[in-house]
Amino acid sequence: MQISVIGTGYVGLVTGACFAEFGVNVLCMDNDAKRIARLEKGDVPFYEPGLTELVAKGIGQGRLSFTAELIRAVDHGEVIFIAVGTPPRKDGSADLSFVEEVGRGIAGKMASYKVIATKSTVPVGTGALLQEVITSNQSKQITFDVVSNPEFLREGSAIEDFMRPNRVVIGSDSERAVAVMKDLYRPLYLIETPFVVTDVPTAEMIKYASNAFLATKISFINEIATLCERMGADVQAVAKGMGLDQRIGSKFLQAGPGFGGSCFPKDLAALVQMGEKAGHPMQIAGAAAVVNTQQRARMITKIAGALGGLKGATIGMLGLSFKPNTDDLREAPALAIAEELMKQGANVGAYDPAALEEATRMLAGIMPCQNTEEAARGADALVLMTEWNEFRNLDFTKLKSLMRRPILIDLRNVYESNRVTQFGFRYVSVGRPTKNPD
Ligand code: NAD
Repeated sequence: MQISVIGTGYVGLVTGACFAEFGVNVLCMDNDAKRIARLEKGDVPFYEPGLTELVAKGIGQGRLSFTAELIRAVDHGEVIFIAVGTPPRKDGSADLSFVEEVGRGIAGKMASYKVIATKSTVPVGTGALLQEVITSNQSKQITFDVVSNPEFLREGSAIEDFMRPNRVVIGSDSERAVAVMKDLYRPLYLIETPFVVTDVPTAEMIKYASNAFLATKISFINEIATLCERMGADVQAVAKGMGLDQRIGSKFLQAGPGFGGSCFPKDLAALVQMGEKAGHPMQIAGAAAVVNTQQRARMITKIAGALGGLKGATIGMLGLSFKPNTDDLREAPALAIAEELMKQGANVGAYDPAALEEATRMLAGIMPCQNTEEAARGADALVLMTEWNEFRNLDFTKLKSLMRRPILIDLRNVYESNRVTQFGFRYVSVGRPTKNPD
């Protein structure tokens, strides 16, 4: 089969490279010509483990190619995936202008039957909107079907998530389109991946309901963490005790600085907007977003409290990306927290294994450090922001010798307190008692 993917960001490029790996002939299109020129040389414009190798393999085997011309993509694919961005508008609703633009483009260039599948996260009703946009922009009437095929991959483990998903959701009211999609996903069918075949609005809703639920789980444990701090309990043990209950599950019960990334904040906001429009406020999703904003502010108070004030303090931040194994800084808590720390008079140096260059561009005033030691030199505290593996085994003896004051503020609860305090550090974490040096 031949398919096209419009948009070569995290989702589009992973989708294209993985389908090429499944043996499909894939043409990836992006209107960013520079990005396409890089991709044609196998140069992946962002960090995602294993993706450079998979793209190189696809290109090498002649199953993955790139173009900046929409007409070529429309011609090439029996299935055309739309994987362009759907960023939040000021009011929180999803901006569908890229999706609509692609829809209009496809309409004008379609010459045979196409399945047009949205991988972008789009509000309920977008499938119908796309149907209407394409129909009204066709120069001659050609049959097509719109399918909702939301994507659930996580940055940092995107390839594994795509190749071994928990489920594939296909929303369509056309048997023909469902058959094409099932054929395309046959390699996953063979490994017994559950398929949820439903109508378009339901498929669109599954994506928002899933992301809102996961975000709510994080805000819930963060709220419990604050209560733990006030009442002398340990959130780590609370989360373990909760997570062992199979009805709850242990995932997404990790207290921390709040969720970030390109999906949870924007998808929560869009769901809240959908509720407003439908006349049914989404109170839990709204509360999860509010708690998340408060959680970031609490981290500032925590850091200021540990240092006895921020004015003139030097802080070494470890990790900037919104989670490990990605260079994605969209809505990263680290950026908002670093900005506020600086606003309140602190100097912030930071090290990140993948996102440093981009973060330095995005946040004026932050001092880039090339490694952990450089971030520790002369610092009043180290703040562990993102739990990259290389921060899981810090050399505390060495770090103490470099720092002005030995304080570790572990916003990801990576360490057990005695592992840190035995080296003469003060240890501050989230939802657990602060421990002084032994
Ligand atoms: P991204 O910003 O990384 O990539 C979007 C790409 O689309 C860019 O390369 C951009 O140049 C291209 N583009 C924009 N308009 C275009 C047009 N008219 N024609 C061709 N190309 C165009 O975005 P992403 O993170 O890959 O997310 C894409 C969608 O998938 C969003 O709706 C997002 O919510 C959803 N999603 C993202 C993730 C994730 O982890 N990033 C996971 C699941 C779903």
